[in-house]
Amino acid sequence: MTLFDKMLAGEIPCDKVYEDDDILAFNDINPQAPVHVLVIPKHKVARFDGLPEQDAETVGRLFQGAARVARQLGIQENGYRVIVNNGRDAQQTVEYIHLHLLAGRPLKWPPG
Ligand code: 5GP
Repeated sequence: MTLFDKMLAGEIPCDKVYEDDDILAFNDINPQAPVHVLVIPKHKVARFDGLPEQDAETVGRLFQGAARVARQLGIQENGYRVIVNNGRDAQQTVEYIHLHLLAGRPLKWPPG
């Protein structure tokens, strides 16, 4: 069980910003920007890499849901970044697919 499984199960609290049938969004505990929200699908997918065909819809809904969260937070006008860290070099630390939504300041490019 990952940290995010436990949050979904209600075993660990999270600072929820949005929830619907498909996704849960909550504030990152170590924010890298004024807005740093993590968005996860309720149906578990471990990694972006090697995504099984049957999880394609889950991931599509995850992206749609993240855009909905962004609109709800009012960050769509100034813009925001959506990030998936995949694997060690990208510093993926939780083996449960998640989108990082970063906003609230001009973001540098390239990241990292
Ligand atoms: P990753 O590095 O796997 O892409 O992202 C995992 C994220 O989870 C990190 O940005 C990290 O700050 C966040 N995180 C780790 N532990 C907790 C926690 O207990 N609560 C919350 N809300 N976020 C966490």
